Amino acid sequence: MEAISNKIKKPSSPVIIKQHTSCGVNVEKIVRRILKYNPREYVEGLKEIALLDEGPNKRGFSSYWKEKGRIELYVKDIVGWQPWIIKKTFVFPYLSVGLALGHEIDHHVCRNQMLHDKENHAECNAYKYVYPSFGIFKPLVKLLGLFLQKSPWNIP
Ligand SMILES: [Zn+2]
Repeated sequence: MEAISNKIKKPSSPVIIKQHTSCGVNVEKIVRRILKYNPREYVEGLKEIALLDEGPNKRGFSSYWKEKGRIELYVKDIVGWQPWIIKKTFVFPYLSVGLALGHEIDHHVCRNQMLHDKENHAECNAYKYVYPSFGIFKPLVKLLGLFLQKSPWNIP
């Protein structure tokens, strides 16, 4: 039995590399939870998710590096600016981190597709990757999600 089960190779989860300074939000925990609720196939081939303070060009919340199999989340830009009272709501920082991560997961899922507009595709799909992880808060978050979709998210 042991030998047989060893042969079935499940896609492995990406490694989470935490390199950001303290921001009052447990970003790593949010990322882990979102990954846990998504099918493994989505992140197959994705090697790492790096949590950094900010991006190399200081614009945008996150990046996807296809060749490296790497997603970078820029924690200062995503949640660093949020007042503590907003951070305490949990839902708002969760959605902020989640939508940035969901956007980049979509780039990874579609990495070999010829999309007309991959940025728009990622924007429209970002929420899809976050939603399963909400559990009993789904109705509340659905409402907030509708609100957020109307706000000018500008994730490159
Ligand atoms: Zn993008």
